[in-house]
Amino acid sequence: MAKKDYYEILGVAKGSSQEDIKKAYRKLAIKYHPDKNPDDPSAEDKFKEAAEAYEVLGDDDKRRKYDQFGHDGVRGAGGGGFSGGGMSMEDIFSQFGDVFGGSGFEGFFGGGGGGGRRRGENLRIKLKLNLDEIANGCEKKIKVKRYAGCKTCSGTGAKNGTALESCKHCGGSGQVRKVVNTMLGQMVSSSTCSVCHGEGKMISQACTVCNGDGRVLEEEVIPIKIPAGVGEGMQLSMSGKGNVPPRGGMAGDLLILIEEEEDEQLKRDGNNIIFDLYISFIDACIGTSVEVPTIDGKVKIKIEPGTQSGKILRLRDKGVKEVNGYARGDQLIYVNVWTPKVLNNEEKAILEKLRSSTNFDPKPSKSEKGFFERMKEYFN
Ligand SMILES: [Zn+2]
Ligand SMILES: [Zn+2]
Repeated sequence: MAKKDYYEILGVAKGSSQEDIKKAYRKLAIKYHPDKNPDDPSAEDKFKEAAEAYEVLGDDDKRRKYDQFGHDGVRGAGGGGFSGGGMSMEDIFSQFGDVFGGSGFEGFFGGGGGGGRRRGENLRIKLKLNLDEIANGCEKKIKVKRYAGCKTCSGTGAKNGTALESCKHCGGSGQVRKVVNTMLGQMVSSSTCSVCHGEGKMISQACTVCNGDGRVLEEEVIPIKIPAGVGEGMQLSMSGKGNVPPRGGMAGDLLILIEEEEDEQLKRDGNNIIFDLYISFIDACIGTSVEVPTIDGKVKIKIEPGTQSGKILRLRDKGVKEVNGYARGDQLIYVNVWTPKVLNNEEKAILEKLRSSTNFDPKPSKSEKGFFERMKEYFN
């Protein structure tokens, strides 16, 4: 696959200033930040693509080589050197965090600050709700297995009373620099230290409870209030209820994906509720009153004499409340006139007698609403 042009990825002209390149990258990184696009798996790819382009164009030396030789000019020889498309999210944050100002990515994305820029993963769970819970809102207790800070070592991972020491592998900088010989001369690249994971510090003696991780896997019961009117596919988030990163930092979020359990009788269509009512043709002829279920309990409705099959009755404000408002949908009752499939001889005889009455011949009047009109009415 041909690689995309780095200028094209960032949407800048070839002669653009460093400031413009930085600005363009910053814009893309905000747009495609994976935390902001949890439902779009392509966002992370675009995010990484932009970071790769910026890694080259944001560096005068690499940019010059790229301008001259294209992608070949910045591809590291022998598999080392330039990290290319293989950057991890961690690398991107640690290398380009300064694009977003002194506070780093986390501060920029409203992470709350204070906890440094290390942040734990988000946790995702699915939550199935029935119609009653959706219509009225509910409070759920969710059991979540999450990494929480180790209380014994206060999340540092170090055994009580022992101090942290600087990482021997990277000399405490958290970055490992590598010089690679290429046909274009020596190239220096730096990557996150694999021993201390960029922290620059290591524990000399590990906490015996968390084995130096600074966090422990815990089962927590988290109460959550579900507002009325949520729907299939909606995502609620509880900040700080995801995993804590190893050895201190800010917890990720708990993301709750709503799933709807289908109701046997009441079908949801947006904020409206649809109910199929079956009545006998006798009731349709001479009228009756019937009880129908609604999300607020049973309601008695009148069936007028001469009711046609397919009539739609509307119960105002008996639907689901808008999730971020006050308006409620309606309940729509679709009247089906049930035709018996099996008759005994006596019933047949009575109906034969009725057949001779011209009253039973279909005579739809001009004002009768056919299927087309009824659907139009419903969708308005
Ligand atoms: Zn510990
Ligand atoms: Zn290190």
